[in-house]
Amino acid sequence: MNDIEKLQKQLKKLYEVLDANRYLSSTLNLTLVLERLLEKAKEVIEAEASSLMLLDEEKQELYFHTVLGEKSEKLKNIRLKVGEGISGWVAKNAEPVLVEDCSKDPRFYRKADETSGFQTRSMICVPLIYRKRVLGTIQVLNKTNDRNFDQEDLKIFQIMADQAAIAIENARLHNLATIDHATGLYRKEYFLMRLKDEYLRYQYTGMPLSLLMSDIDHFKRVNTEYGHIGGDIALKELAKVILSVINESKEEDIAGRYGGEEFCVLMPTANQKRALELAEEIRKRIEQHQFFIDGREARITISIGISNLPLHKDLIKDYEDLIKLADEALYICKDKGRNCCAIYEK
Ligand code: GH3
Ligand code: MG
Ligand code: MG
Repeated sequence: MNDIEKLQKQLKKLYEVLDANRYLSSTLNLTLVLERLLEKAKEVIEAEASSLMLLDEEKQELYFHTVLGEKSEKLKNIRLKVGEGISGWVAKNAEPVLVEDCSKDPRFYRKADETSGFQTRSMICVPLIYRKRVLGTIQVLNKTNDRNFDQEDLKIFQIMADQAAIAIENARLHNLATIDHATGLYRKEYFLMRLKDEYLRYQYTGMPLSLLMSDIDHFKRVNTEYGHIGGDIALKELAKVILSVINESKEEDIAGRYGGEEFCVLMPTANQKRALELAEEIRKRIEQHQFFIDGREARITISIGISNLPLHKDLIKDYEDLIKLADEALYICKDKGRNCCAIYEK
């Protein structure tokens, strides 16, 4: 390859790396963003495998967040102390390294290869740094066709590490701004924004839309019996159950904390049948769940009201009407004796 060809190749790689910026703002799904970035890194640097480790600040340990390449799944259980292995060294010193022959590097952590069955010959490892804070490390392993990584590879990989650091920080800030920390569900403001978006989408596409509104039955009694702090523990646990039910499906349903003990689930594209099924599943799981508060077992039930488009289209003039109707359906449940679900009816 002559010099011009080399430069052209280099330029093409840089364009590809710049192009990866697109991913950073295309989705809020951090896992997806990082997978795409690593895929791109593998391709541009021409490596056999790539992975990203995040720093658990409290424990001062690195763990694999994203791994691409053959035999990668088993790595997910490995944790490295800061300072341990090449990645641990990189995280500790906040400096990148290019190791041409891992077998001769005393820092190399053999257990990772033993676990995955992969054979690491060479490696570039770069720290993920945002505002001088180390967030983790990113690495590529083995240049393809038995070649060696060079300083150009390292430079390009450093740009990609900065992209990954920005994606991670974006996700962290997004979480801080949108998640209610007492329950792990979306905050009301963000939830309403998403509801509004979905309502607009319904108006354009006519695809169905459902909203569930849950309220804990006799929650005042829980507070009386276990104290307000005990009540808070129950709320957190309850939110976990709702999230686990939602996360079992591939649908894009999201849950938010609407009031103190009122949680909502937004189900884009869900018809009334699916909405009722999910509501029933959540209700049942809560009923069966053993809540432990202060070492004592508590039983809790909830009621769930449901509104749906197009079912209630004559009564819904704005996105907030979906909430109003689900809330009214909730009163039907309470009247019926609680621990049940109902779709709004006049
Ligand atoms: P119902 O079955 O009719 O819903 O009875 P309820 O006792 O749950 O009554 P209601 O929904 O009207 O009252 C909710 C109570 O939940 C009142 C309030 O003290 C309590 N609560 C609201 N937010 C929180 C919270 O964040 N933490 C705790 N511990 N309690 C809360
Ligand atoms: Mg209430
Ligand atoms: Mg209640």
